[in-house]
Amino acid sequence: MSSAPGQLTASSDEFAAGEGILRRQAQRESAARTYARSLPVVPVRARGMTVEGADGRRYLDCLSGAGTLALGHNHPVVLEAIRKVLDSGAPLHALDLATPIKDAFTTALFETLPSELADRGRIQFCGPAGTDAVEAALKLTRIATGRRGLLAFSGAYHGMTSGALAATGDTTVPAEAAEFGLGVTRLPFPYDYRCPFGTGGDRGAELSARLAASLLDDPKGGVRSPAAMMLEVVQGEGGVIPAPDSWLRRMREITAAHDVPLIVDEVQTGVGRTGAFWAVEHSGILPDVMVLSKAIGGSLPLAVIVYREELDVWRPGAHAGTFRGNQMAMAAGTATLRFVRQNALHERAQTVGARMLSNLRGLAAHHECIGDVRGRGLMIGVELVDTDAQPDDYGALPADARLAALVQQESLKRGLIVELGGRHAGVVRLLPPLTITDEQAEAVLDRLAAAIEAARCAPRGAAA
Ligand code: PMP
Repeated sequence: MSSAPGQLTASSDEFAAGEGILRRQAQRESAARTYARSLPVVPVRARGMTVEGADGRRYLDCLSGAGTLALGHNHPVVLEAIRKVLDSGAPLHALDLATPIKDAFTTALFETLPSELADRGRIQFCGPAGTDAVEAALKLTRIATGRRGLLAFSGAYHGMTSGALAATGDTTVPAEAAEFGLGVTRLPFPYDYRCPFGTGGDRGAELSARLAASLLDDPKGGVRSPAAMMLEVVQGEGGVIPAPDSWLRRMREITAAHDVPLIVDEVQTGVGRTGAFWAVEHSGILPDVMVLSKAIGGSLPLAVIVYREELDVWRPGAHAGTFRGNQMAMAAGTATLRFVRQNALHERAQTVGARMLSNLRGLAAHHECIGDVRGRGLMIGVELVDTDAQPDDYGALPADARLAALVQQESLKRGLIVELGGRHAGVVRLLPPLTITDEQAEAVLDRLAAAIEAARCAPRGAAA
């Protein structure tokens, strides 16, 4: 895969096959499909950060399976681990039975965890999606506390099954699907750029913490003692919003003082993504439950919760699932965890991420339409704003979803796959693999800058 981005290498047969596949997908797949709508790519080969479409175009992949591919596509250690399982004759499906492969995965995972959790923690293997692990965390804390309610945050994303959806902050999902209000108290996440208190900075985060504490303290505050508080250290789908470390420590203090278990959803932030192996390490907080998925399966489906053993009071079968024993995912996951750790790829994510952030901030200085650039490690967001609109009372312009969609399209034309997110889909998100090279990082920034320039210069009305 050495040809230049966008260069056509496919045969006309392959090209036609790709067109047919896209057409059939549009005819046959659900209206609920997502990435496929804005990314008309038919991936046929992929290696590292490069994806090749059926039309022969090559893309630098900054979506990475929605943040799953810590080592990029088809990393040799992952392929080797999968081949080893296949060649060994081990069962590929094992329910929740003990196997050497699972034992090795659990050991490798525990080696990475905060020591208090690793030494005295428990692991529950879940159905292989982040959302099922979120359900397990909610169920576990409800059973252990005998309480129902949940404290969750504005902008949160925890998944698409009903408990996880109730915790998610998206009010555009129909209430009957999300069971909104089912014991969830929504608290403001510290979002510096659009601070709900209009102050931003440390003050905004402090006010958010005060509100949480006062609701729990106030017997007439309308909030019953909840089963848990659940949060993301860096909100991903919510628009790449890193929580300040001091705010996280306050949340830990407040929940501990009120005997409320703290669930940290590290589905997207885990395995080096934010510049620490686990995002909780930045602030040093110790959650009661950690929800883990995406990168822990080394690109194959795997999801677990890890929690303090005192919570382990649920009964056998309290959380079940046929696909809790995916041996290939565990082997691929073990290889990934080990490789990230041995090569300190979280440090690499920190270094490259900081460089990319500073470069993007330089770009923002020249583009009014870039309202904010933020992130942690290799979880980066560029919030695009509508410069023709009126700023709000605190000076922030509204997010520009149309412009973000155009930037995504212009990026694709230039051989760059980016994701969109944020409250109003106005945030361009970069989630490159931790193995990204300096040259690739530069190419990403060049292509994104050119895409922003092209989209910004596009006449209004050329909407996506
Ligand atoms: N939690 C977080 C923080 C996530 O980012 C996601 C997925 N984007 C989920 C939970 C749900 O994971 P899944 O899509 O595998 O159900």
